[in-house]
Amino acid sequence: MNKHLLKSILLLSILLLIIIFTSIYTAEEQKERNKKEIEMVDIGLYQEVIPPISDKKAVEEPYIEEIDAEYLGVYTITAYCSCEKCCGKYALNRPDGIVYGASGKELEADVSVASPLDFGTNIIIEGLGEYVVEDRTADWIVDKYDGEIIDIYFENHEEALKFGKKELKVWRK
Ligand SMILES: [Zn+2]
Repeated sequence: MNKHLLKSILLLSILLLIIIFTSIYTAEEQKERNKKEIEMVDIGLYQEVIPPISDKKAVEEPYIEEIDAEYLGVYTITAYCSCEKCCGKYALNRPDGIVYGASGKELEADVSVASPLDFGTNIIIEGLGEYVVEDRTADWIVDKYDGEIIDIYFENHEEALKFGKKELKVWRK
């Protein structure tokens, strides 16, 4: 074999090795970069799925123990508003557009509730907060839930629908 050819082959091999190593290195670097990007996307998505904090302070049980509230049991919690669907004939009689509860007090969204409990009773609903009994639940509903029913008054029908129906612990403050 001639010396010149051997030299060429050797040079070519070195060149080939350099190309192979460079491409492996580049691929690894790209993989590392992709991984970092995925991690960043993950963090972004995670931040998006954190539920928004309600404007009404969530009530934790240690707080309830602190204020020595009386535990009433697990109640069915429903939602209503001032519309005809929720209030029937009462919705047709709103003097000056003011929504009064059966207690005679003006109802306040996210504060007033209807319940068979005494008017003016301050209650705490698990995870939701404090409310005041200002309205009465219809008798047939009270019977259906054996008296363990609280209907929260909402600003509009859409919000009431969104709340739906829940089973939650209730305390009397
Ligand atoms: Zn309604």
